Amino acid sequence: MENCIFCKIAEKKIPSTTVYEDDELLAFKDINPHAPVHLLVIPKKHYSTLQDAAAAPELLGKMLALAPRLAEEFGCSVSYDADGAPTRGYKALINSGPDGGQEVYHLHLHVVGGPQPWRGKR
Ligand code: 5GP
Ligand code: ZN
Repeated sequence: MENCIFCKIAEKKIPSTTVYEDDELLAFKDINPHAPVHLLVIPKKHYSTLQDAAAAPELLGKMLALAPRLAEEFGCSVSYDADGAPTRGYKALINSGPDGGQEVYHLHLHVVGGPQPWRGKR
């Protein structure tokens, strides 16, 4: 789609730091990270919002399934301490529409991990 920044990233017309790529998906580092690990997973095909992609559940499943793989690779995967309590972890988040905080209208899954400033506060 014309004038879509993430389409341009998917087409390699705008540079990004790629961390994963296959026929359908691209994952890259967020330009303005909110945490030590902040990655974006996008479909190469343009969908504006999660709503628009609801008819493509396999693609959505593939995007979501990539999050734990990337978290593992970037060292923020959920693990368990000696008492069996979960430690570390990450957020896998899709903002949708203006009230959902979406700024770029090409579907993307945020994978945000590492020590979080809000941890323990909520
Ligand atoms: P949203 O608020 O739409 O869910 O998030 C959009 C995200 O895209 C933001 O975290 C922002 O930092 C990131 N972003 C916007 N433009 C670019 C860009 O050109 N390159 C990269 N790597 N990330 C971008
Ligand atoms: Zn696009």
